[in-house]
Amino acid sequence: MSLLTVGTVAFDAIETPFGKTDKIIGGAATYASLAASYFTKNLGLVSVVGDDFPDESIKMLNNHGIDTEGLEIRQGEKSFFWSGRYHNDMNTRDTLATELNVLETFNPVVPEKFKACDFLMLGNLSPEIQMAAMGQIPERPKLVVLDTMNFWMDIALEDLKKAIAKVDVLTINDMEARQLSGEYSLVKAAQKILDMGLKYLIIKKGEHGALLFDNKSVFFAPALPLEDVFDPTGAGDSFAGGFIGYLAKTQDISFDNMKRAIIFGSAMASFCVEKFGMERLIGLSQDEVDERVQDFIDLVQFDISLV
Ligand code: AMP
Repeated sequence: MSLLTVGTVAFDAIETPFGKTDKIIGGAATYASLAASYFTKNLGLVSVVGDDFPDESIKMLNNHGIDTEGLEIRQGEKSFFWSGRYHNDMNTRDTLATELNVLETFNPVVPEKFKACDFLMLGNLSPEIQMAAMGQIPERPKLVVLDTMNFWMDIALEDLKKAIAKVDVLTINDMEARQLSGEYSLVKAAQKILDMGLKYLIIKKGEHGALLFDNKSVFFAPALPLEDVFDPTGAGDSFAGGFIGYLAKTQDISFDNMKRAIIFGSAMASFCVEKFGMERLIGLSQDEVDERVQDFIDLVQFDISLV
């Protein structure tokens, strides 16, 4: 197994200034694995849903090469449900509802065939469950990436800090970096968060791009200025999926390759926001992905000669 993703598979209801959806398919692991599927087809998913989750959505994941043997389907129970409303800036949102449902008693079981994974994506989920899944992998993967959000900082900070100390890369947004570190400056925040036991930290800044830090260096990737942003839900997860998917494809975890991976992650996030839910992330062609990455290269390329 090249890449194993653990995280939520969910129903979402989203409101943006452009419209409103009923319950649609969402979830951190769904977005992350779909984004990663454009880079590697050797993908496993560990999560839980209720019997309300549609079969055709599971088939859609399988069609993208995602093995769902680790997706537990609980009869008589409801899937995780999240609802959010975006502000006019489309960068900030209010959570209207988080109904844990099946997640409340979820005990992740990593199938035997997923245990020898090279890359592990611990998508947004309770840190206790993230750690329970990681604890079942006998040999440490080449790279473990953990994504989280303010919700878990509010209700499970101590567990989250323990989880952070065990992984290699953390991805959070700028507000979460400030909350976690108590520092306003993102440079100071990054230093404090890296000191929690990480090798790398990625701070996502929505339409303002993303920063990659290690103890010595920092790298910045822009977000693509898009004409239409319909729904930012899942952008962070798609970013993380594209990032780790590219690393899994290239099997190179140097800082220089992570810079490239951040561009691929940003490209997948840019697709995600163009339509509601995961509509745009389904069935992309290789040409579309390549062209989008080229747009990023063109966006930041310039010549300067300092004489
Ligand atoms: P993002 O916009 O990248 O933060 O991801 C949004 C996705 O995360 C949605 O599809 C939700 O189903 C999922 N989500 C929202 N809240 C949580 C939570 N507390 N834990 C795990 N996943 C969540």
